[in-house]
Amino acid sequence: MSERIGTTCVQGGWRPGDGEPRQVPIYQNTTWKYDTSEHMGRLFDLEESGYFYTRLANPTNDAVAAKIAELEGGAAAMLTSSGQAANFFAVFNIAGAGDHVVASSAIYGGTYNLLAHTMGRMGLECTFVDPHCTDEELKAAFRPNTKCVFGETIANPALAVLDIERFAAAAHGHGVPLIVDNTFPTPVLCRPIEWGADIVTHSTTKYMDGHGASVGGVIVDSGRFNWNAHADKFPGLTTPDESYHGVVYTERFGLEGAYITKATAQLMRDLGSIQSPQNAFLINLGLESLHLRMARHAANGRAVAEHLASHPKVAWVRHPSLEGDSEAALAAKYLPEGSCGVVSFGVAGGRAAAETFMKNLKLAQIATHVADARTCVLHPANATHRQMNDAELEAAGISADLIRLSCGIEDAADLIADIDQALAAVE
Ligand SMILES: *Cc1c(COP(=O)(O)O)cnc(C)c1O
Repeated sequence: MSERIGTTCVQGGWRPGDGEPRQVPIYQNTTWKYDTSEHMGRLFDLEESGYFYTRLANPTNDAVAAKIAELEGGAAAMLTSSGQAANFFAVFNIAGAGDHVVASSAIYGGTYNLLAHTMGRMGLECTFVDPHCTDEELKAAFRPNTKCVFGETIANPALAVLDIERFAAAAHGHGVPLIVDNTFPTPVLCRPIEWGADIVTHSTTKYMDGHGASVGGVIVDSGRFNWNAHADKFPGLTTPDESYHGVVYTERFGLEGAYITKATAQLMRDLGSIQSPQNAFLINLGLESLHLRMARHAANGRAVAEHLASHPKVAWVRHPSLEGDSEAALAAKYLPEGSCGVVSFGVAGGRAAAETFMKNLKLAQIATHVADARTCVLHPANATHRQMNDAELEAAGISADLIRLSCGIEDAADLIADIDQALAAVE
């Protein structure tokens, strides 16, 4: 039965049998009991499926991961403790010391640091490309040791839209997968696998949880990338894993299971970062209304952006779904039903005007967060990037007047009224 996305949001992943609980049960336990050590041995050897330790697998997490895999149209998924862990595992599962990654330069600051610095210390090099670079520039970024391409469907906070088909074609032309962080649109508004992405990641902390309640992440594998066809590039998947009794992941688990099984059996085993079952339960509650909330977030984002664009005290506005926006054409293709609730803009009068505006907001809450039910707002020059002077900010692509507003699911008219009264306080 092929369901529509809203039905999967509500019922995906957990299909209770006769007399079973309707809500996903929280398996708040570390371990499972077995009658014989032989039985447990077969589980350890991955010869039989079953649970023994929550770091490796837990039924609550599995049900929620299965729902997200269904939503993205993937073959398998795993939950992680945070979005950062998801992106780290997604790359490190197929690339290590001596390898190279091509990444869009318009990505979340934490992911940029991860790829440029922390993974650099692990011996992995990254070349960053402008998401709107030419095909020649994109091609020139690849090296013989390139193992994957990474980008964000809608970049946080730059709001650039990735041309997924173009990046997928470039990745596949070099025999490597495209990994797309789909945090901002969620599978309700864009499903990157349908456009050629091979692996999708999320910070579930944002819209999926949707209520600012729990930090988490997820990796979804499409099961479509043919690791065997490029076996020389991906020995971790196609040759024996000595740390796991010589298992060859592609042989034992097929193309659909190899990538996520390796990430679980090897990376989660050794590096930890499992999501707590309690948090997985909370994310699932968020997922049950994701289709309703995303429609509202996107509509509010667009309404607020349109209002700001017509306001005399506003110097500039960016939102992918705003007519005339630099991303509008890509948004029309990849995000036809709306993009996200995040809007960035500048108040005429620069840094001082931004400060006055922020101080006078009543509904929009000042917070280092985006993408939850309550509208929140951040002035990077005064918060996340406050060590930088105006010249350094410009170089980082963040103007001193930039305000990042994350429209929640309140009534748009109230958000607009709040913005208007705060702008009225600006000289
Ligand atoms: C927030 C965010 C992350 C990091 O996720 P955490 O859950 O905070 O670790 C990664 N990518 C994007 C696009 C994000 O917005």
